[in-house]
Amino acid sequence: MTSSDSRKVVCVLYPDPVAGFPPNYARESIPALASYPDGQTLPTPGSIDFSPGQLLGSVSGGLGLEKFLAERGHRFVVTSDKDGPDSVFERELPDADIVISQPFWPGYLTAERIDQAPNLKLAITAGIGSDHVDLQAAIARNITVCEVTWCNSISVAEHAVMQMLALVRDYIPQYGWVVRGGWNIADAVSRSYDIEGMNVGVVAAGRIGLAVLKRMKPFDVNLHYTDRRRLSPGVEGELGLTFHETVESLVGVCDVVSIHCPLHPETENMFDDALIGRMKRGAYIVNTARGKICDRDAVARALDSGQLAGYAGDVWFPQPPPNDHPWRTMPNHAMTPHTSGSSLSAQARYASGIREILECWLDGRPIRDEYLIVQGGALAGTGAQSYTEGDATGGSEEAARFTAS
Ligand code: NDP
Repeated sequence: MTSSDSRKVVCVLYPDPVAGFPPNYARESIPALASYPDGQTLPTPGSIDFSPGQLLGSVSGGLGLEKFLAERGHRFVVTSDKDGPDSVFERELPDADIVISQPFWPGYLTAERIDQAPNLKLAITAGIGSDHVDLQAAIARNITVCEVTWCNSISVAEHAVMQMLALVRDYIPQYGWVVRGGWNIADAVSRSYDIEGMNVGVVAAGRIGLAVLKRMKPFDVNLHYTDRRRLSPGVEGELGLTFHETVESLVGVCDVVSIHCPLHPETENMFDDALIGRMKRGAYIVNTARGKICDRDAVARALDSGQLAGYAGDVWFPQPPPNDHPWRTMPNHAMTPHTSGSSLSAQARYASGIREILECWLDGRPIRDEYLIVQGGALAGTGAQSYTEGDATGGSEEAARFTAS
């Protein structure tokens, strides 16, 4: 390899656990999956340098890429310091060829940052959802953007189902009574219901939304969905789905709404005061798609007034959210940090997918269509199906206000 073949790869990952990198794990292994639900194959890297089930998504895990990149003579910079002009990320950008970041702890690639990185040719998302990249600017600069389609879709579907049940049954306060040493059943059940018989709907029935519908079917609920494209009559019949042409129609009848569309200009702030106002009083929202799909203050207001009985999810804007972000303290929420798509099981899949993408890119082979979001100055592959052109990174500089406690 000549020095001109050497690439600089800048990778933004979340910080290691406060208690240190885990010396061992709760389980010995994770199940090996045969394929994804639609038959797409799991990632096919030439090899991997990690054991599936290890923590790979934090700085010391480095997505298992360090040895591979070093052996090929590439420079690999991994940091969690990503926000503000003095961040390591901004300092390392000017000569970066490839940026890897993840939705959980996004290294926002705004137009300004893209301008600072004249060599940047490839932006890889370690996960799914590339809205932390200004796609319009990536299109204009002919930067390839890709993500690891399917890698954590089922992980997110499981989290969404868990949070629907947590909200409706009011699990989190009940757990709190146990931890505090109480046995206050009346307090613990005063907001607790069965989900059986409720109307449960998803906004978008793509990979994740459909997986949520399938998982909710055995709960004997009435299932609803809206999407830009209708599912086949076979799927609708099998799951007993009611299709709604508009999100307004869906929210008008549902007790629980779970959001699974991508964030793009069409979906930004979709759940504002007006749409939440059309929901049944006491409805629940679970949002594991993207924080910006819901108007931050409208959600907090609706929980305060009782229009919403609960709100859960794992996606915020920006990430990490400042300590005074109202979703941290609003009533009746069951939020997690952005964890649903970063289980140890999911990490093994997205780390393998990134390795596959890098092997293709560095060897001059095409990246699978299903991983492509932007290529050749236009939306491509999965991006052409699910995204619209534009920029959803506005306001991301607010992430610099976060301070870890
Ligand atoms: P898919 O592309 O499989 O599905 C998205 C669906 O949304 C498509 O059916 C698409 O329709 C539909 N859609 C797009 N715009 C609209 C709209 N305006 N109204 C209604 N439906 C719309 O994506 P996934 O299911 O894999 O993922 C969905 C999103 O979940 C990701 O974009 C990401 O933001 C989020 N996610 C979150 C994770 C987490 O850790 N919390 C991890 C992974 C993903 P069409 O077919 O016409 O394009």
